[in-house]
Amino acid sequence: MTPLLRGRLLENVSLFVTVANIKRTVFVQFQVEMVMTLAVAFIGAIEIDVGSAIRINFKESVIISVMGDRYNKYFMKLAANEAREGIKNGDGGPFGAVVVKNGEVIATGHNHVLSNNDSTCHGEIDAIRKAEQKLGTYNLSGCEIYTTGEPCPMCLAAVLWANISRIYYGCRAEDEARIGFRDLKFSEILGSDFGSGLPEGFLEERNREMCLEVFNEYEKMGAERY
Ligand SMILES: [Zn+2]
Repeated sequence: MTPLLRGRLLENVSLFVTVANIKRTVFVQFQVEMVMTLAVAFIGAIEIDVGSAIRINFKESVIISVMGDRYNKYFMKLAANEAREGIKNGDGGPFGAVVVKNGEVIATGHNHVLSNNDSTCHGEIDAIRKAEQKLGTYNLSGCEIYTTGEPCPMCLAAVLWANISRIYYGCRAEDEARIGFRDLKFSEILGSDFGSGLPEGFLEERNREMCLEVFNEYEKMGAERY
């Protein structure tokens, strides 16, 4: 729950669920930049007032349709910001990740391979560890993860172990290879059908251009590749 739910916004949002043409009302009442806050508030309002079955339906049919690409772009932007912070600090490669549940950020993380001397501390792993600590469980069912780069086999497996339901990634493995990382090599070793049994839509490329900007920044820095 967000503090907003205890304030006036909750009343406003609660009203929306009872009126027709919700989509139009949202745009009249709130500017586009507020739509993320609104989305979280909606989820809270429906949880309180209507019930979980309708919440799920409502989230998918209204919030995502209202937000469209902005829903995913918002979280990918956070992942890119994480990656940027990591490379600025010299923590590791340009890899940031965000774990999201019902439109709410649970944790953000980035690659710490260099700063921690830890070859396993990829962005996804960092975000997953933090999310699990925050929620007090190893089970991240119902969560999605946004990551600036296509997950390596280790991270892909970590996502599965954590029961995360979906991965959105920005750059492709070939982009990672282009700036000097070994992702494609591992794919060759493990075989081209690695991951072929994943459910349809489990991995989805989004906002590649946005994430490529961070990759390009890292490349220009001439920082370590590993
Ligand atoms: Zn990885």
